[in-house]
Amino acid sequence: MVAETERDGETWYECDSCGMLFDDRDDAKTHEANCDEEDPTYIQ
Ligand SMILES: [Zn+2]
Repeated sequence: MVAETERDGETWYECDSCGMLFDDRDDAKTHEANCDEEDPTYIQ
């Protein structure tokens, strides 16, 4: 789930799984759809 957070007067979207921040909600959603905190082997 993407969480909204405000920093320096700007709204950011945070991936609940890994904590990565995006300035675009669609980017965050796209990331999260591909983010799997339980099996992060692709990060390597
Ligand atoms: Zn993530």
